[in-house]
Amino acid sequence: MSEPVLKVEGLARAFEQGGVRIDVLKGVDLTIAPGEIVALLGPSGSGKSTLLQAVGLLEGGFQGRISIGGERVETLDNQGRTRVRRDRLGFVYQFHHLLPDFSARENVILAGLVAGKSDAEAGARADQLLTAMGLGARLTHRPSQLSGGEQQRVAVGRALANKPLLVLADEPTGNLDEATAAKVLAEFLTLVREQGSSALVATHNEALAARMDRVVRLHEGRLA
Ligand code: ADP
Ligand code: MG
Repeated sequence: MSEPVLKVEGLARAFEQGGVRIDVLKGVDLTIAPGEIVALLGPSGSGKSTLLQAVGLLEGGFQGRISIGGERVETLDNQGRTRVRRDRLGFVYQFHHLLPDFSARENVILAGLVAGKSDAEAGARADQLLTAMGLGARLTHRPSQLSGGEQQRVAVGRALANKPLLVLADEPTGNLDEATAAKVLAEFLTLVREQGSSALVATHNEALAARMDRVVRLHEGRLA
């Protein structure tokens, strides 16, 4: 059997707010195989973002073990975390977080350049991804000149620019109307499958979750 892309063991996270302790994650175990796309379902406040932030090495303060591509990552220093995020992970959020002064194409290219691609290579990849999502005629538009669905497609392009081992998506279509959300998610899943990446996609939408390879549910701090 090939090595899991993600292995999470006993992940726990509590927050203290005004002297009150809330145990958000109480021992989460999750393994994702190469090429597998997993939906993370749970109502608002169940800890989906907390789990994705831990796996994305964006937050400390948790207990448990996390391995990405066979490498233990929760013990890494800042430099190591940055390397793993840059070389192995891709992120999509509910809000696009695109750079407002750069075009759609430039936003995707920058992700490639940061990871060490040449201008030509990063440009070709950006064109390929954006064209595949129907944005061939929007390459030079800035985020403010794009619709919500188009902005999220650019954010997807940025996340996939370097063919990451694992894509972490936190309600990636949560701000879109139902029809647009379904289309953008379908395009995202097609691209992720084509390039053989794995993905963990938080959503509270059962219909969207059903399109993925497997569904896991966060309930009372654990996965079921
Ligand atoms: P979801 O993404 O499923 O909506 P979150 O992971 O954002 O849930 O939040 C889970 C719980 O953790 C919520 O009760 C939230 O209030 C709490 N929480 C999240 N982040 C913090 C924080 N930085 N400080 C205090 N409580 C937090
Ligand atoms: Mg959330």
